[in-house]
Amino acid sequence: MKRIIFATGNEGKMREIRMIMKDTGYEVVSLKEAGLNPDIVEDGTTFEENALIKAKTIAQMTGQMALADDSGLEVDYLDKAPGIYSARFLGEDTSYEVKNAYILDQLKGVPEEKRSARFVCAIAFCDADGNTMTTRATIEGRIGDQAAGENGFGYDPIFYVPEFGVSTAELTMEQKNQISHRAKALNLMKEKLKGLEA
Ligand code: IMP
Repeated sequence: MKRIIFATGNEGKMREIRMIMKDTGYEVVSLKEAGLNPDIVEDGTTFEENALIKAKTIAQMTGQMALADDSGLEVDYLDKAPGIYSARFLGEDTSYEVKNAYILDQLKGVPEEKRSARFVCAIAFCDADGNTMTTRATIEGRIGDQAAGENGFGYDPIFYVPEFGVSTAELTMEQKNQISHRAKALNLMKEKLKGLEA
């Protein structure tokens, strides 16, 4: 079975990734499983660039195929902030309670039609010869008036999905995995990988 290293240390993401990739014929392993602990500087200016930096670094280090993702929240009223800086927004060590409260405060009194937001995910692939591919997907929603829900992580409690009428922190993991930016981008990459084989 062909092996792909997924450049993440996040076990939650790995579970989702393995579920989606299970019928592809690829064995997907995490950085930890590959015995890697790289220090990668994500200094790209787009989600795609940052995902490519990670995938290229791992492919070059190992001579094996690598995948990586980069994701974040874009709030239209805040000129698409925090965007690629989502993890570092207000400081890497600042809690999401504080980050979410700050965004809610910035949008206080802003009418519903101006509260649009989206989660974005880019997935990048790189092989040992340096060939690359990227995919991108989004989930559209809006910033709620207050935080709600205990599931998920990060900005989930303030991100409302109109179709469901709840925040992504109120969805089960299975429900979120059906509609998430990451799942959709990964499914697009899965199709591209199939195309590569053909
Ligand atoms: P990374 O792609 O793991 O670097 O994640 C970037 C940051 O974007 C995360 O730390 C979260 O703050 C945010 N983010 C990305 N996807 C989600 C999501 O599905 N829910 C909530 N926050 C997210």
